[in-house]
Amino acid sequence: MTSATPKNQPLSGNAMPRFGGIASMLRLPLANSPEGLDAAFIGVPLDIGTSHRPGARFGPRQIRAESALIRPYNMATGAAPFDTLQVADLGDVPINTYSLQKSLPIITGFYQQVLNADCIPLTLGGDHTIALPILRAIAARHGPVALVHVDAHADVNDDMFGERIAHGTPFRRAVEENLLACDKVFQIGLRGTGYASDDFDWPRAQGFTIVQAHEVWYQSLAPTMARVRERIGNTPCYLSFDIDGIDPAFAGGTGTPEIGGLTVPQALEIIRGCHGLNIVGGDLVEIAPPYDLSGNTALLGANLLYEMLCVLPGVKRR
Ligand code: MN
Ligand code: MN
Repeated sequence: MTSATPKNQPLSGNAMPRFGGIASMLRLPLANSPEGLDAAFIGVPLDIGTSHRPGARFGPRQIRAESALIRPYNMATGAAPFDTLQVADLGDVPINTYSLQKSLPIITGFYQQVLNADCIPLTLGGDHTIALPILRAIAARHGPVALVHVDAHADVNDDMFGERIAHGTPFRRAVEENLLACDKVFQIGLRGTGYASDDFDWPRAQGFTIVQAHEVWYQSLAPTMARVRERIGNTPCYLSFDIDGIDPAFAGGTGTPEIGGLTVPQALEIIRGCHGLNIVGGDLVEIAPPYDLSGNTALLGANLLYEMLCVLPGVKRR
């Protein structure tokens, strides 16, 4: 696509009421193929890796519904993603909701097709298990990637209930499978109680940088993100955002909430601070609509996915 070709645009709230029409992500056109797309939103309605409160299987639909209020231009950063990128909603990955083992290759295969078309995937989760099959496809294309991981939890358990695939293990498996450039992995927002006092020692021993929530309470994350950009440089970078990184006061609609979390402005600073990185994909996971009675958590998630779109390579700022 040349920049002269008209790009897909979100359906305007002045052309169809925001509460009308089909609930695609950001009211973008639906697409059956990634061919010709620069970026795409993809839902992965999987929550059978959840350890506590299920419900993230309903995340993609609720995020799409709440995204109806979002407008094309980013008034804070000036980003105009739809001026230069061809973006669409590719719908949901047809996972096998009875089998985590069978769902993983289904997800990896879907993302390989997307990446082969040079389309950057932005994912609506789903629980955090899905980061592993997505990273398998990402690393097959780009090699071991840098990672900006926002979460209350490190998700580096060796197993959960004896299972090696679960929403608390994806980054342990990703290290073992050499999917990550470990010295360029940042885990931000970690907190809460642990199974052992040395729970964060394993990721640190791999070279990860951990920024616990309490270390940045009341603080801007802009200086942290300057360090992140300096360390990651031009290495292909994946952004994995677990909504439970944000305090449950703002994002209580999730399966494993932890008190004392990041604020919404800090979340915006993290994603906006990724501007200039070579972002090759991103996800927003763990929104559980059954616990999100106001829709606020899904509204936040939809906006954070929009912010991810705004920092993709090739987006111009007005
Ligand atoms: Mn997580
Ligand atoms: Mn978490």
